[in-house]
Amino acid sequence: MMKTNLITSLSKRTASQLHYTCRHGSTASSAYDLVIVGGGIIGCATAREMIMRHPNMKMAIVEKENVLAMHQTGHNSGVVHAGIYYTPGSMKAKLCVEGLKLSYEYFCKNNIPHKKIGKLIVAQNLNQIKKIDDLFDRGTKNNVPDLEIVEKDCISKYEPKCKGEKAIWSPWTGIVDWAVVCKAFAEDFKKMGGEIFLNFEVIGFTEMMESKGESQLAPISVQSKTRCIPTKYVLTCAGLHSDRLAVMTGCDLSPRIVPFRGEYLLLNDNKRHLCTTNVYPIPDPRFPFLGVHFTPRITGEIWLGPNAVLAFAREGYSWFDINIRDCIEMAKFPGLYKLCFRYFLPGCMEMIKSIFYPLAVKDLQKFIPEVSYRDVRRGPAGVRAQALDKDGKLVDDFVFDGGTGSIGSRVLHCRNAPSPAATSSMAIAKFIADKLDRDFKF
Ligand SMILES: Cc1cc2nc3c(=O)[nH]c(=O)nc-3n(C[C@H](O)[C@H](O)[C@H](O)COP(=O)(O)OP(=O)(O)OC[C@H]3O[C@@H](n4cnc5c(N)ncnc54)[C@H](O)[C@@H]3O)c2cc1C
Repeated sequence: MMKTNLITSLSKRTASQLHYTCRHGSTASSAYDLVIVGGGIIGCATAREMIMRHPNMKMAIVEKENVLAMHQTGHNSGVVHAGIYYTPGSMKAKLCVEGLKLSYEYFCKNNIPHKKIGKLIVAQNLNQIKKIDDLFDRGTKNNVPDLEIVEKDCISKYEPKCKGEKAIWSPWTGIVDWAVVCKAFAEDFKKMGGEIFLNFEVIGFTEMMESKGESQLAPISVQSKTRCIPTKYVLTCAGLHSDRLAVMTGCDLSPRIVPFRGEYLLLNDNKRHLCTTNVYPIPDPRFPFLGVHFTPRITGEIWLGPNAVLAFAREGYSWFDINIRDCIEMAKFPGLYKLCFRYFLPGCMEMIKSIFYPLAVKDLQKFIPEVSYRDVRRGPAGVRAQALDKDGKLVDDFVFDGGTGSIGSRVLHCRNAPSPAATSSMAIAKFIADKLDRDFKF
């Protein structure tokens, strides 16, 4: 490790002293060892982990927006998941449980406001009661701490207004603002010497032209419209645009990202007393989404949702956000037709409930009957980067991709970081950092 650090630090000095010229005549900055594309929680957590491991390396995060955490990281339920749902032994299960512990330690050390308010997963009928036992079993196998089965009569001890037939209580589930956490990771990164370039939308990767013939020290040029950054290696964590970034280095178009909006309703302030903990339904195993739930926010608001409707733009936070390029790409993607065909009815129901939101309140009343449609109003929305394979199957695993040739072999793409990736972010960061160390021999 010491040897590697010495070499990288020598080459860093040499590389940053060289004079680089960008293609297309854009302005070049000095050279980096690693550039991370995407200032969401995965990019920032991994950048932090990498600079902690390699303090002598020169690193930068580039983000297309003018603030960090602008997309999925800043538009989610804000739940710290305990890891109950995921298949035992899977990466999702392992990284979530590990991420939960690391996150709470980090919040406490860094005074990040959070609350361990717990969560009830509530069964409403006989069929769901059977699933409660399966879920409890999964959670136990995943080492989720302190899970309890709650019988019908005891549900109100955990959430006084909640009704159901049987439930699971998870005391370690919590709430936090993941955008605040992401920005704290970014601050740590900067304090350790990392740099962050906002308003830097990556439009391609090219081979660097070095005017004095030493381009192998930082052979890749990370291009925006007006600038370029020379670097040795690149990691992309581009969320809703991850497939586009992968294609830029010659990777396969699959898995494609299809945007699914998750809309929330807000409980009126005078009804906030109706909900003090996270209340979740039994998830439908066909979908990776956890179902519409009650979520108290760290601000004191109560959010109800999110649903899942196809968005007409990758960053389409309302029905009126339509992006022609995104729509054309979706229209040309056979996998999406297959998905729509398979889930035609549930898909239509979600759309109808999205437009006539009092219908969605009916689902919520099963859990807290006192909530009426007069007690809610439309709230914010987030857009999930849902990865789909060629057959229209929902990809539920992490997907990493590289490429070949002089550029592709130096780039790692994180193409799918599915929920609960915010909770798992510190564990995912360690996982990606191990991979970067192994693949690129840092
Ligand atoms: C509705 C919803 C609810 C969720 N609820 C939870 C929850 O309660 N708990 C939980 O743990 N997880 C939750 N998740 C999942 C979690 O929010 C995401 O998995 C996580 O935020 C993904 O982080 P990311 O960094 O991969 O993506 P993002 O946060 O989307 O970040 C990607 C970044 O890349 C940037 N970028 C893209 N293209 C380029 C480019 N060409 N050049 C430069 N920058 C670029 C984007 O601007 C963006 O900032 C939820 C997600 C959604 C959508």
